Amino acid sequence: MSYVDETIQMLKEKYSAQPEFIQATTEVLESIRPVIEAKEDEYKRDALLERLVEPDRQIIFRVPWIDRNGNAHVNTGYRVQFNNSIGPYKGGLRLHPSVNISIIKFLGFEQIFKNSLTGLPIGGAKGGSDFDPKGKTDREIMSFCKNFMLELYKYIGADTDVPAGDIGTGAREIGYMFGAYKRIRRTHEGVLTGKGLAYGGSLARTEATGYGLLYLTQEMLKCNGIDISGKTVLVSGSGNVAIYAIEKAQQLGAKVVTCSDSNGWVYDPDGIDLAALKEIKEVNRQRLTEYKKYRPDSEYHEGRGVWSVKADIALPCATQNELRIEDAKALVANGITAVAEGANMPTTAEAVKYLQSNGVLLAPAKAANAGGVATSALEMSQNSERLNWTFEKVDSKLKDIMVSIFHNMSDAAEKYGMGKNYVAGANIAGFEKVLDAMVEQGIC
Ligand code: NDP
Repeated sequence: MSYVDETIQMLKEKYSAQPEFIQATTEVLESIRPVIEAKEDEYKRDALLERLVEPDRQIIFRVPWIDRNGNAHVNTGYRVQFNNSIGPYKGGLRLHPSVNISIIKFLGFEQIFKNSLTGLPIGGAKGGSDFDPKGKTDREIMSFCKNFMLELYKYIGADTDVPAGDIGTGAREIGYMFGAYKRIRRTHEGVLTGKGLAYGGSLARTEATGYGLLYLTQEMLKCNGIDISGKTVLVSGSGNVAIYAIEKAQQLGAKVVTCSDSNGWVYDPDGIDLAALKEIKEVNRQRLTEYKKYRPDSEYHEGRGVWSVKADIALPCATQNELRIEDAKALVANGITAVAEGANMPTTAEAVKYLQSNGVLLAPAKAANAGGVATSALEMSQNSERLNWTFEKVDSKLKDIMVSIFHNMSDAAEKYGMGKNYVAGANIAGFEKVLDAMVEQGIC
């Protein structure tokens, strides 16, 4: 059995209760196979793959907090510091009831390669909690965030590990966590990114993941002879990534006709009204059912269904495994040209294979949504310099990074004879740099 297959089998046996982690590691290991096979004996002797798939450390802790009636609750907090070969650990904090160790490990593992692809010196990590911010008051969120940081602060620092936002963790939560960190540590340092502009945040960080997704998509289409202007686009989600993906798609002349939340989805044939969407989600924190009040000609549907609409480009921007095989079949039947992943691992393995084998251009998450973490790294640079860059400067660096990520993954796919398999290209390009760093820094 090859070294790659042995490692996948070991993971399946050892972590059988962690399906998302197995899915993510298997996908990466399968695609870096040609790189490993070139020096199989050496890498096996040095346990390179075992070292790659086992996090440096996993921190799991209790987070007590007090609700509006004075009752105490307890959630579980996580920080998985996966690999810091190329820089301090970096990765978001997810607050969602579905969070468990499998999800945090899958996200942390993916983050290693994504961060490497940005070309910036950042390692891979992820964290969060099964706390559900939905329906909570500001004071409840504050109580949770302060108590979360009361434990997390021991393990993070501007040159050690710099967490950021993710699902359920936006500027409000980062603010409360930063406030708690400062009170404990008595130091104003760039320990978190996604901070408010008044206390060390970066312009364009809010927009970065969605904008970056579109910069990369535009470059991928351009290199395949397609102009994004005039194309019809499907977006899922209506959170941070989705909203700014819609904004940039519209700026580039495309028409976005859908968005969704965890209850249902909207179809607006005239194009999503972004101002209405921002008011519903960013200002009022309401459900998408409200959208029809702003746009009476739009349709609201309960449940899933975004991918059943005919379009040229699909941008899944909600959550993992939201684009399944039946969705991929519907997209292909409707003549989809490209899928670019704004969310992390939104497309199931089966759906990825189906889309690729039907000639759909597929930009994987670790490349396509790397704009968020790349801009977080730019926030770290500004904090170190104690300077603030203009929106234009950050946005222009973001665009350059996304264009270069596309070419890195495209070149890697070509180098290993994989044509337009950008999934493999991104994994290989991200892996090669981490591999060099791990080898050069010794085994133990
Ligand atoms: P938000 O919390 O801002 O938004 C998430 C959106 O997805 C909401 O519309 C939410 O609906 C929906 N959603 C969440 N879970 C589900 C579910 N199980 N089924 C259907 N819809 C769901 O998160 P972000 O926009 O920040 O993140 C979205 C994705 O992008 C995640 O995969 C995240 O890891 C990834 N990402 C985010 C980055 C960032 O900078 N923010 C950077 C890189 C990746 P509802 O409001 O009803 O819960």
